[in-house]
Amino acid sequence: MPDTIIVLFNRDLRITDHPALHQACQDARQVVPLFVIDSVIRPRARAGFLIECLTDLRESLRERGADLVVRRGDVVAETMRIAAETGATAIYTSRDVSAFARRREERFRRERIELRTFPGITIVPPDQLKPATGTHYKVFTPYFRAWSDIQWRPIAETPATIAMPEVKAGDIPTARRRPHLPGGEREVRRRLDLWLRHCLRDYAEGHDDLAGDHTSRLSPYLRFGCVSPLELAVRAGASEEFVRQLCWRDFYAQVALAFPNLPRDDYRPGRGGWHQDKEAEDAWREGMTGVPIVDAGMRQLLAENWMHNRARMIVASFLTKTLRLDWRVGAEHFEELLLDADIPNNYGNWQWVAGTGNDTRPNRVLNPVRQAKRFDKDGEYIRRYVPELEHVPTATLHEPWRAPSPILGYTSPIWRS
Ligand SMILES: Cc1cc2nc3c(=O)[nH]c(=O)nc-3n(C[C@H](O)[C@H](O)[C@H](O)COP(=O)(O)OP(=O)(O)OC[C@H]3O[C@@H](n4cnc5c(N)ncnc54)[C@H](O)[C@@H]3O)c2cc1C
Repeated sequence: MPDTIIVLFNRDLRITDHPALHQACQDARQVVPLFVIDSVIRPRARAGFLIECLTDLRESLRERGADLVVRRGDVVAETMRIAAETGATAIYTSRDVSAFARRREERFRRERIELRTFPGITIVPPDQLKPATGTHYKVFTPYFRAWSDIQWRPIAETPATIAMPEVKAGDIPTARRRPHLPGGEREVRRRLDLWLRHCLRDYAEGHDDLAGDHTSRLSPYLRFGCVSPLELAVRAGASEEFVRQLCWRDFYAQVALAFPNLPRDDYRPGRGGWHQDKEAEDAWREGMTGVPIVDAGMRQLLAENWMHNRARMIVASFLTKTLRLDWRVGAEHFEELLLDADIPNNYGNWQWVAGTGNDTRPNRVLNPVRQAKRFDKDGEYIRRYVPELEHVPTATLHEPWRAPSPILGYTSPIWRS
């Protein structure tokens, strides 16, 4: 039995259903829970949320007799320093799919230490399902079928106590501003209980209703791993529609694993021909396009660091299919602002909408006016985020350019139906 194992946390900031932590507690006499704030990663809008997640994780570990060791710098160098300090002979960590995570894994493998990777970031490990031909599933429906047919791993037990060697814990930095949502495992467990009890049953019916806001808003917690996606899928099993959404997350993870250039290169090449229009880009970013449903979505993003999925689809289609601007412009803006932004989901979805990704109908265009009339029929979502339009009658709200006279205070449209 090794004396000491380091559990390196990353996008798995929880103690429940954490296979790496669970196994380390079985395999070693002592465990060092470690998080390294990487000097390369700019946390941007997510810094405050991350800090709250780390603080919460530290509290949970302290309740179990351990602590969260926090260091700043290069993840490999800092982890190896802690290994030297504590005599740890192995690192246990949750396996991630981004090119960055895989480079880190390769670097660890060149060190004189054992590295073991565990599931936990997705429901089904991203390399578990393979189609009859090819390296990964390119189309969602067959993936969903295969994914639904296999037995998932059992939920890992939460350790009751964790023995830890003497190490200086290190400070968690203080946040410059509070996140729009409180971070951490305790918070998500509270939200999850309420959501499952009161909202899950309305999900299938209501998840596209923009004003109704019936989705779970769990994405930032899934992004940081405050909740296990597997536990969530098991507990939400009564709603196939909801579990299907979680499967999209797994789907993009296996796409990102097979196509590490997902954030940069077209997954399905040949579309190209993007226009250059700095003014249109800025108008889109600022929610000042004059197209109400697009502006409402973009302003929700600016106000809350989050956006409803239907709005994400509309604003992304507007940028790439209507204005013909490069999907990378939009994806980078989302990456900068979203609390839930991660590489597989953000870039996978952007490429899907732009027609360069996994959509089997890459030429489909979401007409923003038709979408608005369908998913925000009474204009409540638009009025919530675009106060200039608060008193505009619903008849002209979705197409203010058709109003008998210009709407005072609202920007003129850069596109019209
Ligand atoms: C252009 C674009 C960019 C996106 N960028 C991201 C991103 O950076 N991070 C992210 O987590 N999601 C992204 N999504 C997917 C989706 O919009 C969000 O996951 C969802 O809005 C989060 O809200 P929720 O937790 O209330 O979702 P719910 O409807 O409650 O769904 C539950 C969970 O299922 C997963 N999920 C739902 N839809 C999708 C989807 N289309 N793809 C992958 N997973 C999904 C999410 O983890 C979500 O939290 C993007 C979608 C589009 C169209």
